[in-house]
Amino acid sequence: MTPDPGRLACPLPRCRAANTATAETCQSCGTPLRAWARLRAHPAQLFNDGLEAARSGRTTIARDHFAAVVHWCPGDAEARSALALACLLLDDPDEARHHWRQVLVRRPGDATALKGLAHLESGTEPPNTEHTEPTEPPEPPEPTDFTEKEPATTE
Ligand SMILES: [Zn+2]
Repeated sequence: MTPDPGRLACPLPRCRAANTATAETCQSCGTPLRAWARLRAHPAQLFNDGLEAARSGRTTIARDHFAAVVHWCPGDAEARSALALACLLLDDPDEARHHWRQVLVRRPGDATALKGLAHLESGTEPPNTEHTEPTEPPEPPEPTDFTEKEPATTE
């Protein structure tokens, strides 16, 4: 995503000041933009490595990568949701539940987290009888397309 190559937006949500592309620090809040850019690139690479591992069935490695991303970027809901799913696949529902709940703290309506938690609840406890929301069918969520199936070629 490069909206304007001549500008570098401050990454802090409460700032978002537009800086020149060569700025070392944010002109408004003083955040070190160069360091931030390097920090951002590292988790992105970790996340992609995690996806790669997940797709090839190395779920433990995937979980470790996603956990590292979440450690670096606690607010990265996508990475945390991927981590939760990896935990679920590794038969660690408590950890999965924890991370999906963390996702909902940041993004209350996150569909993947709601679906994941619904899946967890359906497997462990009877559903709450409060008439809050319609219950979804208990399917495991697929936030990151873990499985890529090839079409069957039987001719
Ligand atoms: Zn700033």
